Amino acid sequence: MAVSIIAANLQAVAGLNTNILPSVEPPDNAYVPVRGQFDATVIIKKLAGLEDGAPFKLGIMAQDLCSPILSFVYGESQLGGKAALVSLHRLFDDDPELYYQRAAKISLHEVGHLLGLGHCWENFCIMHFSSNIAALDSLSISFCPACEYEINRRLSSIVADGGLVR
Ligand SMILES: [Zn+2]
Ligand SMILES: [Zn+2]
Repeated sequence: MAVSIIAANLQAVAGLNTNILPSVEPPDNAYVPVRGQFDATVIIKKLAGLEDGAPFKLGIMAQDLCSPILSFVYGESQLGGKAALVSLHRLFDDDPELYYQRAAKISLHEVGHLLGLGHCWENFCIMHFSSNIAALDSLSISFCPACEYEINRRLSSIVADGGLVR
C-alpha cells in the first residue's frame, strides 16, 4: 500500500515513471545488533549495485534505519547517485492519511537528493531538512520553484542521455 502511494506521488509531483519491483531482503551485514537498527548506507550500496536497468532505485523499509553518525534517519540517499532508502518505521500510522503523506514526502525528498539537489532554505519546500515529524508535517508536498526547475533540468538531461523515459 505505502509503496504504491509513494509511486503515485513520485509520478504526480516529480513526473517520474516508476516500476514497483518484488521485495528483497536487506543484506545480513546491514543489521546493527547493538542498535537494533539497519545501517542505511550498507543497504543503499546493495540497492545501487542491483543490475535491473533502472537509472534510480528507491528502497522502502518497515524497519528502523540509522547511519554511523545519526541515531535514526527517515531516509538516506546517494547525492546525485543511483539509490536511496526510506524507512516507514517512525511515521506513526495511527492516522493513515498522514502516515502515507509522510512516506510520500520523505520519498520525494530522497529522490530530490538522488537527482543531485541539496537541502533548500524555503521552509515549505520538500527539500527543506526535517529532523522530526512536526517539521516533516509542516512541509508542503511539492518542490519550491527553484528546486522544481533543477529537477526538470536534471531529468531532461537524463532523458537526453536515453537513460530515462519521462
Ligand atoms: Zn535531505
Ligand atoms: Zn526548494
